Amino acid sequence: MTAERAANALERYEAVIGIEIHCQLRTESKMFCACSTQYDGAPPNTHNCPTCLGLPGALPVINKRAVEHVIATGLAIGASIPARTQWERKNYFYPDLPKGYQISQYAIPLAANGRLPIETSAGPFTVDITRAHLEEDTAKLAHGTVVAGSAAPRTTLVDFNRSGAPLMEIVTEPCIRTAEQARRYAEELQLLLRAIGVSDADMERGQMRVEANVSLRPRGTEPFGTRVEVKNMNSFRSVERAIAFEIERQAAALDAGEPLVMETRGWDDGRQVTYRMRAKETSDDYRYFPEPDLPPLRVDGAWIDGIRALQPELPAARRERYIAAGITPYDAAVIVADPDMRRAFEAISAAGASVPAKEVANFVSGSHARLAKTTGLNERGTAGASDPASIAVLLAAIADGSIGRPAGRDLLDRHLADGTPAADLLATVASTISDDSALLAHIDAVIAANPKAIADYKAGKPVAGFLVGQVMRATGGAADAARVTALVRGRLDAEG
Ligand SMILES: [Zn+2]
Repeated sequence: MTAERAANALERYEAVIGIEIHCQLRTESKMFCACSTQYDGAPPNTHNCPTCLGLPGALPVINKRAVEHVIATGLAIGASIPARTQWERKNYFYPDLPKGYQISQYAIPLAANGRLPIETSAGPFTVDITRAHLEEDTAKLAHGTVVAGSAAPRTTLVDFNRSGAPLMEIVTEPCIRTAEQARRYAEELQLLLRAIGVSDADMERGQMRVEANVSLRPRGTEPFGTRVEVKNMNSFRSVERAIAFEIERQAAALDAGEPLVMETRGWDDGRQVTYRMRAKETSDDYRYFPEPDLPPLRVDGAWIDGIRALQPELPAARRERYIAAGITPYDAAVIVADPDMRRAFEAISAAGASVPAKEVANFVSGSHARLAKTTGLNERGTAGASDPASIAVLLAAIADGSIGRPAGRDLLDRHLADGTPAADLLATVASTISDDSALLAHIDAVIAANPKAIADYKAGKPVAGFLVGQVMRATGGAADAARVTALVRGRLDAEG
């Protein structure tokens, strides 16, 4: 409903959307101290030192791995990396910021002018990325905590475990026009960050926080309208919903001649609305100035080349490779987006180079995916007790027609269930179908199930073809059709 009304609003107004994403970087230690970043689930205030508590006189030391993660991200989005960058203090007061400032990058981000192509229901779209820079995370406030014996029944506590954790901020140009583009961008960025190993980027765990700047302008006009920042979107779905809601809300206000105010709004997932949180600060309010405790950071070409050399295949390149191998764009996107499917696809393809990629794709996104959900992948890269080599042999047998599809599927299911090697499974099938007595048992079963066929045969109707078809089906198409035909005719003649 909201999406529909947002679409109506977009006939009159053009939405101008920019996205800011904060990602927690995957490092052992924090941004400017040696404290561990493995504080998830730990008691509050157990991962701290004078630096991340902001005690006077404590000095920051740069985490090299965090810098490399931002450079790797910059390379992956085709951004330029400056030869020299610097750190600035972003000053503001909030109880989760003990120093009264955050060390960040303002004038020279570690990566600038990148782009990320995405696919949407309306076709391909490229998101222009202004910058990616490095900063430190804040502490966490636990509002409404009940403290036993306290005079105030509900109070706010501060947990400094997250304080000083490395954070990458990625900012787009205001180039996004629809809520769907915003969601797709966030999804594709998550995939990319995970592929290059710089962040786990789990939205529900707060490792990837998406904020959207949304404004409207009448179609055909240039000047930007009043911008509203939307926060607290904890899933991709809520990113799309919140932006669609905001487009609709702003359009209604503009239609009614009501002025919009520059503000920060939160997304209430329960009520499916945005609500006003506070007036929005401008960058002037932060009084940025160079960090006196850290020298400028030189980034030499050899360092960048070393990071580039370690870059794995990126999701877009992987999708292209799959599509070139004969997989549909839809299946390629599904497999690349799912780590288990991707790993199984690679393992099976590597085990049997002659198996058509489409055959492998159908398998890993079908019965294999269902099993993988419950058992996970084994060390060989496939689900349960199965192994990539056996799966490749069975898929190849199906693909080249040496075994019928239903029988082949049955063998794959049996292999997935107990790990019986493909060679053993195929040998069993070969003996049951090359042996006349086994075929005759199938024929008798088919005749018993179709008593009318015998009556028809006696009445002179041509029913042999139908019965042969039933027998072939019962053997999964694996039997020799000529032999089955001869045996069926023999049986029918015996009946007549
Ligand atoms: Zn620390």
